Amino acid sequence: MARTRTPDTVSVGGHRLRLTNPDKVIYPTTGHTKADVIAYYQAIAPFLLPHVTGRIVTRKRWVDGVGTADRPGDVFFEKNLPDSAPSWIRSVAIEHSNHTNTYPVFDDAAALAWAGQVSALELHVPQWRVDGHGVPQNPDRLVLDLDPGPGAGLAECVEVARRAKALLADLELEPMPVTSGSKGMHLYAPLDGTHDSDYVNAFAKEVAKALESELPDLVVSSMRKSLRGGKVLVDWSQNNGNKTTIAPYSLRGTLEPHVATPRTWRELTSSLKQLTLDEVLTRMKRRKDPMAHLAPDLVADRLATYRSMRDPGRTPEPAGAGGTSSNGRSFVIQEHHASSLHWDFRLEHDGVLVSWALPKGVPTSTAKNHLAVQTEDHPLEYGTFEGTIPKGEYGGGEVTIWDHGTYELEKWNAREVIATLTGTKEGGIGGRRKYALIHTDKNQWLIHQMMITAQ
Ligand code: MN
Repeated sequence: MARTRTPDTVSVGGHRLRLTNPDKVIYPTTGHTKADVIAYYQAIAPFLLPHVTGRIVTRKRWVDGVGTADRPGDVFFEKNLPDSAPSWIRSVAIEHSNHTNTYPVFDDAAALAWAGQVSALELHVPQWRVDGHGVPQNPDRLVLDLDPGPGAGLAECVEVARRAKALLADLELEPMPVTSGSKGMHLYAPLDGTHDSDYVNAFAKEVAKALESELPDLVVSSMRKSLRGGKVLVDWSQNNGNKTTIAPYSLRGTLEPHVATPRTWRELTSSLKQLTLDEVLTRMKRRKDPMAHLAPDLVADRLATYRSMRDPGRTPEPAGAGGTSSNGRSFVIQEHHASSLHWDFRLEHDGVLVSWALPKGVPTSTAKNHLAVQTEDHPLEYGTFEGTIPKGEYGGGEVTIWDHGTYELEKWNAREVIATLTGTKEGGIGGRRKYALIHTDKNQWLIHQMMITAQ
């Protein structure tokens, strides 16, 4: 993180974030401060983000620290994105049975830095993701929470986890263990997304009941059986679409700064322990993420539509095969003489070019808005594409670059994108222009030229 402007404003991934009280002690037992929390989340971001990207994040916040065993700190659970949050954090509105919540989605390291700034130590996510338009998808992973009761601990969880692994393998599922950072362990198995949350939840319940009948002295599958001395509760219910589980690599609000840590199966011995922030940072310097196969290649996912519309043997356009991880802020506007002339307005975001087709081009005054129709995300390589797409292919016709350059981002969420574009000297927009894209319906947006006010 490079320091810019006033000493308490930092720049993370192109976003400015105001940092207050970095020296505040959050974990009195070990002396870890808010700055340590933020540094942890920045260092672990490459491992953590793939497991949370596209998922709504609910947070547990300890604004005055976690306290001590005798005097625990106050904690509260936060679902909605507060008004005080920076406007660049992506948010999605999710309708519940009788209300709508607006949740943040953490797409980059800057969002994690904000979480640290507001002492949101614990990040909880559901087992499903939203798509690029904020629409919830079917779950892409199953979770079992192994929760040891009085008289039981991680050693008992290890025994149950091994049995669960064998049982799930018979069902062609490959679970990975995560020591939860609290008392127990989670098991995650990747799903192909063909079943909804209700189905997965009912399935997980059957798995828990099967474990209970195989290991009756060690496992209970019902929360109601409160007397579970020496036993492990296999909690299947977190697959419910309305529930969340601590995210892999999230901190915990425990007395010591424990972390929910993905483990290899070889690590699951009888002496298994929960790991702290410092232990996790050390181990990830020389390890890969044991759970990496559960993190989808999100960039490749976002380009699936692009690829499905094109035959690389028939069009000179980039194939869009590889995902590029990037925090860049490039833009391109292409003039496209397809069956009807339009301009393609593309902003680099999350490793792809998010794209809109503008039938009348960009607005030339602040008085008149133009229609912008969102189209499929394009690969970053498309930013330099010029050429002729053959007649009969998708978008057949000539493509030329009308302007290109970089942009400063002010706001990006499902309802609105505000960015100031700096084009080239000879380019079409003529220097520096600020635009707002306003979502009106489905793939329909309006593009508005804004006044640039001096800061
Ligand atoms: Mn086009």
